[in-house]
Amino acid sequence: MPINKQKSQLLSGGHYAASLEAAPGETYDPDFESLVYRMLVRLGEDPEREGLRRTPLRVAKALDFLTSGYDMDVEEVVRNALFSEDCAEMVVVKDIEFYSLCEHHMLPFFGRAHVGYLPNGKVIGLSKVARVVDVFARRLQVQERLTSQIADALMEALAAHGVAVVMEASHTCMMMRGVQKQNSSTVTSAMRGTFIDNARSRSEFMGLLRVP
Ligand code: ZN
Repeated sequence: MPINKQKSQLLSGGHYAASLEAAPGETYDPDFESLVYRMLVRLGEDPEREGLRRTPLRVAKALDFLTSGYDMDVEEVVRNALFSEDCAEMVVVKDIEFYSLCEHHMLPFFGRAHVGYLPNGKVIGLSKVARVVDVFARRLQVQERLTSQIADALMEALAAHGVAVVMEASHTCMMMRGVQKQNSSTVTSAMRGTFIDNARSRSEFMGLLRVP
């Protein structure tokens, strides 16, 4: 997929949070902004009132950021972060915070990802595991696919004996519409390699997730 010009500027712009603000006189993506402008009108708002005047620009930037995973590549993320290591023990990275958008409503779902793998001569820098989660979380997603994509990508990048991913998430599209679903969370898992075949590896992983 070709990288959209504005989006690539945003990605190379360093600190995301700062660049999501609207600088005075800044132009970003007039086409995208006019879509948001029309959406505001459709919602019954006045896009010209002071508080909303820069909203189309901010929404365009925010959505580009929240879908920036389309322009990221796992290979690039893990490059220079793989190390040869004669470690056969399970590696577990718990409580990786993630934020994604559900593809049905384009509303956020968010929670924690837990990733485990059984190395096969290679280990990966721990912070990179979280970056791989973001590559797939920053897209329009369903939680099930997000979970499998992370597992498959790590399995491939690490050529591991096995990869296990468990994700717990709250979906605002359910929470905000009430019906007593505010406290519900959705748990998905994806097991690859040894974690499929070997119940002991699976339960060791699940056991490590319960340790506070
Ligand atoms: Zn939804």
